[in-house]
Amino acid sequence: MRSPKRLPLAHAPTPLTPLMSPAKARAGAAFLGALAGADVWVKRDDMTGGPEAGNKIRKLEYLLAEAVERGADTIVTCGGLQSNHARATALVSVQLGMKPVLLLRTTSPELDVRRAPLSGNVLIDRMLGAEIQLITPAQYRERATLMSDVAARLEAEGRRPYVIPEGGSNGLGSFGYVRAMEEVRRQLDLGLGGGRRFDLVVHACGSGGTAAGVALGASRYEVADEVVPFAVCDDRAYFEAVIQRIVAEARAMDAGLVAPAKLRVEDRAKGPAYAVASDAQKALLVEAARETALLFDPVYTGKAFFGLVEAGRRGELDGKRVLFLHTGGLPGLLAQGDDLAAALG
Ligand SMILES: *Cc1c(COP(=O)(O)O)cnc(C)c1O
Repeated sequence: MRSPKRLPLAHAPTPLTPLMSPAKARAGAAFLGALAGADVWVKRDDMTGGPEAGNKIRKLEYLLAEAVERGADTIVTCGGLQSNHARATALVSVQLGMKPVLLLRTTSPELDVRRAPLSGNVLIDRMLGAEIQLITPAQYRERATLMSDVAARLEAEGRRPYVIPEGGSNGLGSFGYVRAMEEVRRQLDLGLGGGRRFDLVVHACGSGGTAAGVALGASRYEVADEVVPFAVCDDRAYFEAVIQRIVAEARAMDAGLVAPAKLRVEDRAKGPAYAVASDAQKALLVEAARETALLFDPVYTGKAFFGLVEAGRRGELDGKRVLFLHTGGLPGLLAQGDDLAAALG
């Protein structure tokens, strides 16, 4: 068996860069003290594309290859109202001539997308003409059933739907991050990123597919010994189970995959709630932008970076080579501008 088919959609290889230039590091931002003992590199998967950028496009390379192979003309998926995954899916679907149908979760009671705020990801979804159905958190818990009901309705109308699970996170989607780790291996072999394997890969975790692929790819391509996904919702036990299921699915599809790297899910940096950052997390977002020109978002990458800095403060990273995977999320930052006003000073 070999890896599943893929469509080349991402702009790759993405850069592998030091967290900051040596000159900047000497100048010394406050959070740098916490990371001073570590050798931190950033894999810029916020640069996998233009408006479709972020980690989701790597999974979509495999998922949409299957959709095309099956002759799909409609892509059904789900997420929060400001879902990066839904936005990336909508973009690539339109690019490939398929109609995106998005089930988006919201707490606002009126459930009419025309009255939802036009910002960030959902603005892009609307620009693309995606068919959007707003759903409640209770409905979202039944998302798999809901999506198959939508698919059945579309089939009855003579369409050919292909359903992508939350976050594109299943065995097939996770191959996007197996491949991303192969890409890092090639970069290390060229002497980039310090040229040697990492001790750990750190990234934000929201639906588990990235963590599963990174763990499988990190061992297969000898990129790192350990993967530390920072949960942005739910908890450690939940994600350990989800990630193990995805890993098993992927390994059943490709016998070339060896056992995954050690996974240590962290849930200490998830903040007050999904998509809500603490004041300290917001302050770090701003400080990181000003010192490194990296734009992290309050939903995903900002929380993972916060978790990384906290681990550094506890001395856990001393002497370690760390790969921080920047998974994108810029539209999510743009959608929360008003909530950052206080942190901007
Ligand atoms: C979806 C997403 C993640 C989490 O990836 P999963 O594979 O869903 O765990 C992290 N960062 C950003 C910006 C995302 O959009």
